[in-house]
Amino acid sequence: MGQVLKNSDLVNKISPVFELGLIGYPLGHSFSPRLHLAALEAAGLRGYYRLYPISPDQDQSDLKLRKLIERIVSGKITGLNVTIPFKQKVIGLLDRLTDVAAQIEAVNTIFIENGCLTGENTDVPGFLVDVTNCVSGIDTQADVRVDGLPDLVMVLGAGGSARAVVYALARRGKRIILVSRRKEQADRLIDSLISSSGLFKSEPFPETVTFSHLDKAIGKLQDQEVLIVNTTPVGMWPDVNDCPWPEHLAIPTKAMVYDLIYNPRETLLMKQAMNAGLPAWNGLGMLVEQAALAFERWTGINNSAPKMWEALNHYVDKPLNDGLKR
Ligand code: NAP
Repeated sequence: MGQVLKNSDLVNKISPVFELGLIGYPLGHSFSPRLHLAALEAAGLRGYYRLYPISPDQDQSDLKLRKLIERIVSGKITGLNVTIPFKQKVIGLLDRLTDVAAQIEAVNTIFIENGCLTGENTDVPGFLVDVTNCVSGIDTQADVRVDGLPDLVMVLGAGGSARAVVYALARRGKRIILVSRRKEQADRLIDSLISSSGLFKSEPFPETVTFSHLDKAIGKLQDQEVLIVNTTPVGMWPDVNDCPWPEHLAIPTKAMVYDLIYNPRETLLMKQAMNAGLPAWNGLGMLVEQAALAFERWTGINNSAPKMWEALNHYVDKPLNDGLKR
């Protein structure tokens, strides 16, 4: 008599195994495995999400990176996320980039499309989707703002994530004030976005200022509504008592704050804004949205964000003061 197969055995025999993972360094505190495993489970897919920490200082780190990416080509890995310090470095190992990845010159998701090893950047749409969702919940002047976002945005920091944020908001036609410790760094970011993406031909040209001259920039704002986006790591665990906003300056009265940091869930910058009666959000939503978009590239399954939120909230011990577990 032949072997009797249960239904689940049949599913296991015919369904593919999604081999997913993350390259970067360090990766110890990554939330990504929780998010992607929850999405796989919700979709009834078999798979794994593995962490591949490659220290840039270790011997043959370039070779290790290349060999890992070759495993996508050979089909042993379905797709990978990429984080610091490899978002630019992987570009030279890929066949093609999506428009967004090419324009901001950074890749956070690798997948195979039409037989080509493709680099995508889901941080840009992930940020935009989440910040728009957050801000659209506020009804002040919603009738005059087409996408719910103020026309003026102040971006704190001029590193890798600032690049994605500036690109995303500038493409929406927002006027940007880019604040950095060194003005040359902010100017360089703008120049490089101009050459890689052609931005700012028709979009408002950004203003760059240093933190030490922030008072002058704020003085000019008067009563204008402004979205302040923190892209510096200042305030991130374990340095939770640090704040990127200068101590001697009040946060503008019509500001709303979006902090890319999500650990802790309430940064000091967010607390200061909320204490002044201003809305503030952390970067968990961006993390979830970029993950959901990457998951879609690998599996074809969209709208995994709610399941990813559920998985995160399972680990949440304390909701934020607006009652939302963000
Ligand atoms: P990055 O490339 O290293 O850039 C950090 C920027 O912050 C640099 O411009 C740096 O300026 C500035 N900075 C650092 N310390 C500062 C200080 N004490 N005062 C003023 N500016 C300071 O880092 P990143 O990749 O953009 O990441 C930044 C933060 O965003 C991290 O906390 C990361 O976890 C978070 N993030 C969140 C998400 C999400 O999905 N929510 C996604 C990406 C990043 P200098 O060059 O002068 O040092």
